[in-house]
Amino acid sequence: MGFEKFGAVNFTSETKASDFVKFLEEGKVMTTKCTRCGKVYFPPRIDCCACGASEIEWIEIDEPGELVAYSTVMYGPTGFENDVPYTIAAVRFPKGIQVFGRISKKIPTDKIKVGMKLKVVPIKLDSDRVSYQFVQP
Ligand SMILES: [Zn+2]
Repeated sequence: MGFEKFGAVNFTSETKASDFVKFLEEGKVMTTKCTRCGKVYFPPRIDCCACGASEIEWIEIDEPGELVAYSTVMYGPTGFENDVPYTIAAVRFPKGIQVFGRISKKIPTDKIKVGMKLKVVPIKLDSDRVSYQFVQP
């Protein structure tokens, strides 16, 4: 018996999910799809909670989605004080993928409207970190 059952996330799953960051560094926002039942997850999941399978494929979120909801943050939580104002949003992409994240500051706040088209792109942050944000297609 090894440590296969230790902790909430096993080592293999963690290694596979870290591909998400590798893909961001390569300029792609990717997520996972269960190859057994077809359910798509964001953030990526290695184990499907719909059918219990652990066979996944990576798919790129490269088509524009539609803004579902957003909120402009005027007073940031600790660590984000110098970043305000910024706008967080939920965007629904084709294939049933819903992504929560930030809208690029290049889009003026008064131009942000529910139903507008947005795509998700990787961004580089300070100190070599990567993330993603929503921009106009
Ligand atoms: Zn599944």
